[in-house]
Amino acid sequence: MATIGFIGLGNMGFPMSRNLLRGGHRVVGYDIAAPARERFAAAGGEVRLGVAEVVREADVVCTSLPGPVEVEEVYLGPGGVAETGRAGQLAIELSTIGPTLGRRVASTLAEKSVGFVGAPVSGGVEGAEVATLTIMAGGSAESFARAEPLFGLLGKNIFHVGEDPGAGYIVKLLNNFFIGFYTEAVAEALALADLLGFDKEKLFQILNVSYGRSGIYQRNYELFIAKERYEPGFALGLLLKDLALARSMAEELGARLPIFERLLEVYRQSVEADFGTRDMAAQYLYVKSLQGGA
Ligand code: NAD
Repeated sequence: MATIGFIGLGNMGFPMSRNLLRGGHRVVGYDIAAPARERFAAAGGEVRLGVAEVVREADVVCTSLPGPVEVEEVYLGPGGVAETGRAGQLAIELSTIGPTLGRRVASTLAEKSVGFVGAPVSGGVEGAEVATLTIMAGGSAESFARAEPLFGLLGKNIFHVGEDPGAGYIVKLLNNFFIGFYTEAVAEALALADLLGFDKEKLFQILNVSYGRSGIYQRNYELFIAKERYEPGFALGLLLKDLALARSMAEELGARLPIFERLLEVYRQSVEADFGTRDMAAQYLYVKSLQGGA
């Protein structure tokens, strides 16, 4: 069994690293946050206190980090994977970043003959826990083949999107483009249902078998709004980060996406109003807060 390094042991990284442990691998891990390291140690992981320490021991390095700033630092910064990695290692990058950064990391690692698969995931913390994630991977056929057995421990629907290390990120950002629209639609429709005095549970039972249904309606309503619980899950701040990444991708092509621009503005306002650390389902609470006297 391989020694796997895991950097970023948060809401997604922790359950993924635990599934690698359950698959019989030795996992050495690092997170800047002490509680995340402690939880990982309690699950049988071996804690290390820096990126270089993890890379030194690992055959394969996995990362699940908040976004592009942290991915750039962990891979390309001082003491990062590019500096400390060695020929023959493989990096599997599971965070949501833009395709351009994915390609830049891949080409920097290639200079040291370190392989790279850009493999963002979908399916939430629930999917990470029970290993049913969808994984959208971009990278060479050889790197993908090496990563595939590990993907099998993390997810259910595994796609080799293409040889381009940015390919998986393109699919992921388009997925989250939909999530942004659906989450706002659920928030506004349910806030309106409240104003109408209509029972949200009854509404869900009917719409969940009508064309108003969506995976996001089901997730945001059943797991969060119905339970009045908004701990992430997937934080609104991370959704805003992904929508901003989608906008950068669109801007590079001069795309005109009129409603999307407005949507970004609405999420920016909800994050400014302090909803950023709550699950994205809390967009419903933000929309409710806009209603005078409701
Ligand atoms: P998170 O904030 O819970 O976890 C990220 C972890 O990285 C944190 O524990 C943080 O302390 C750690 N970290 C930050 N900087 C670090 C550094 N320099 N070195 C080591 N550790 C560092 O976020 P998450 O929800 O687990 O999301 C991780 C990634 O997966 C994000 O890119 C997110 O967009 C993506 N994602 C999340 C979900 C979800 O439902 N939560 C679903 C699909 C994809």
